[in-house]
Amino acid sequence: MDLGIRGKRALVCGASKGLGLGCARALAEAGVDLVLNARGAGALGLAAEAIRAEFGVTVEEVAADITSDEGRAAVLALGPFDILVTNAGGPPPGHWKDWGEADFMGAIKANMLTPIALMTALLPGMCDRGWGRVINITSQAVKAPIPQLGLSNTARAGLTGYVAGTSRQVAPFGVTINNLLPGIHDTDRATALDQGVIRAEGITMDEARARRAAGIPARRYGTAAEFGAMCAFLCSQHGGFIVGQNILLDGGATNATL
Ligand code: NAP
Repeated sequence: MDLGIRGKRALVCGASKGLGLGCARALAEAGVDLVLNARGAGALGLAAEAIRAEFGVTVEEVAADITSDEGRAAVLALGPFDILVTNAGGPPPGHWKDWGEADFMGAIKANMLTPIALMTALLPGMCDRGWGRVINITSQAVKAPIPQLGLSNTARAGLTGYVAGTSRQVAPFGVTINNLLPGIHDTDRATALDQGVIRAEGITMDEARARRAAGIPARRYGTAAEFGAMCAFLCSQHGGFIVGQNILLDGGATNATL
């Protein structure tokens, strides 16, 4: 299928690894020129070089913390953008008794206020040009809470509410905003969470992964490539009627009818 977005420009945050990289690669395969962001310059450079070599699109890199004012200014200076993919690391797991105001403010800044700031900066230009796509990488925790990820549950609920209203305000201008909700995917983030299970329960990595996979009807972790393919479709010309949705990619793990 021709996604119809060849020559568009995308900003993909948190793009050196994992789900952000999966989105960047799928957009590049559709002919989209990229600005990629992550904090670590080494992995970012390797990711950018691999995408240039494989897909022949233009790739610029900005090594910066997207949750900082300076980091956002650095990526936004390379605009305008037709497509925005917001992403950053998820908050750490823990227990509700241990979280104080600073923990909540950190999670809210990274996983709610940062995507909102990026949308605030880029939506006006998209609306003026009459076309735009925004994808926020959030979590299955938006649909069904993951108790040990209470910081994530909290911050992402705020972003979800913002998108629900704002997406309806920009849709008349040809701009769509949607959220992608990953369940367990095979990335560094999933490995870090598995390591928590290993430590807590004294089991091996293979046992931890088998146990988590057994709780997913698809009986496996998702891949960054299939996550990226959904991102690219939502960003395509064919996605223009999909507005303000929260799309689960979780192998059926969230046991719900709707
Ligand atoms: P990952 O494999 O750890 O990759 C995270 C990417 O974001 C890396 O490129 C990282 O590079 C970059 N990053 C992290 N913090 C950043 C910051 N402050 N500024 C700029 N870039 C930053 O994580 P992932 O599995 O792809 O997860 C992506 C998002 O999906 C996270 O919010 C996570 O909580 C959520 N999620 C993931 C899963 C899963 O199973 N994988 C499930 C549910 C939700 P640097 O470290 O070099 O900056």
